[in-house]
Amino acid sequence: MKPLMMVFPFLLAVLPLTGGAVERQLGPHVHGQAQVDVSVDAGSMDVQVSLPGHDAVGFEHPSGSPQESAAIEKAAQLLKDAAWLVPAPAANCTLALARISPHGFGGNAEPGGHADFDASYHFTCGRSARLDQLDIRLAVAFPAVQKVVVRIITAAGSDQQELDGTASHVDVQP
Ligand SMILES: [Zn+2]
Repeated sequence: MKPLMMVFPFLLAVLPLTGGAVERQLGPHVHGQAQVDVSVDAGSMDVQVSLPGHDAVGFEHPSGSPQESAAIEKAAQLLKDAAWLVPAPAANCTLALARISPHGFGGNAEPGGHADFDASYHFTCGRSARLDQLDIRLAVAFPAVQKVVVRIITAAGSDQQELDGTASHVDVQP
């Protein structure tokens, strides 16, 4: 028991720092700006999204009312449906998996901290060689989004494109 008691205060002091560093490894989030990482492999496409809580639901604190809880649920459902993400039809991609993780909306969230939604998707694509474009309509689904930074990795290399306003067309080099 005694060794534990000695270690515990140390952990408490250190964890918030490491936790923050791990969560923000993609860079600090900017309100109004979503990040979308796309990686295309033979036969599949993986997509990671980071969306500030400010843009998804208009707040970044633990839910304090049924309305706020409903807003969080609605945003998570919109992300999960992924109707805002349309791969080139010729690539014949099907959404196989969607995982949505809200961060910073729980009762143990850091006061004054940020909150966001992380989403990851796996698509299987019958003809990934024909995946030459994507339509990313995050700014339509979530009107507070003003800019979407899209990073794409394919066999042809990596590329970054920015969508301003409700622009949604992303070129992909399969
Ligand atoms: Zn924030």
